[in-house]
Amino acid sequence: MIAVEDIRIMAIGAHPDDCELKAGGCAALWAECGYRVLFVSMTNGHTGHYAMGGGPLARRRRDEAAAAAAVIGIESRVVDINNGELMPDLYTRKLLIAMIREFSPDLILTHRPNDYHPDHRYTSQLVQDCSYQINVPHFVPLTPAPMKRCVIMYFSDNFKKPVPFTPDIAVDITPVVDKKIAMVACHESQVYEWLPWADGNLSDVPKDAAERYAWLTDKQRQRYRREADLCREKLVQIYGEKGGTCEFAESFEVCEYGARLTEEAKKRLFPFVP
Ligand SMILES: [Zn+2]
Repeated sequence: MIAVEDIRIMAIGAHPDDCELKAGGCAALWAECGYRVLFVSMTNGHTGHYAMGGGPLARRRRDEAAAAAAVIGIESRVVDINNGELMPDLYTRKLLIAMIREFSPDLILTHRPNDYHPDHRYTSQLVQDCSYQINVPHFVPLTPAPMKRCVIMYFSDNFKKPVPFTPDIAVDITPVVDKKIAMVACHESQVYEWLPWADGNLSDVPKDAAERYAWLTDKQRQRYRREADLCREKLVQIYGEKGGTCEFAESFEVCEYGARLTEEAKKRLFPFVP
């Protein structure tokens, strides 16, 4: 019998808000089950702002990621590699293999390899490049290799080429959507400053703290409603009638380089899915 805290989920995003946006709902569900969850950001986010940058921004974003993790009681790690400078090279692969072995996940979540952002692409490629060597004992020999192989899955996205995202699992996150939004709201430098500025609507962000939280909640709910509609077919397949009406969802696609997502693995890794 495996203790719940021995089941470990590691989400590996490129930037300090990627894991929250793509898997914050499932992380809340895993945390409620007593599973250990680690959110990793492969870069420090030091260019993600229009007015501030460098060390002060990297430290601010690390603290925002830690605050987001604290909302649901999970772990957070921000790797000190500058934004836009992540490379899928041997040095970084070895660093990531050691990190993966130290946490010993049963499931890794990451970006798909075709994406507009080089940090997303290279994070994905690094995970793919690690997938076999995680279990090779004489590669990075001072960090013991686990015997178990882990399942690897991709976050959802809207990119169509060379192949559109095809969900292998879709999760109804309606019961925890407010927790997810509370996590996302911790990334103040992003959701209230950088992203609205980059979209040209910074002036839409209310000044009052309660009002801006309501403004963000509304936008976030729309986003996860769209996500539910995008994976509706899979939701219905999994949840039956309830899947046709569930309001908010997250979905993931299996990476064929990891362990197989067998029915047994699915039950263990997604115990909240029928
Ligand atoms: Zn990102």
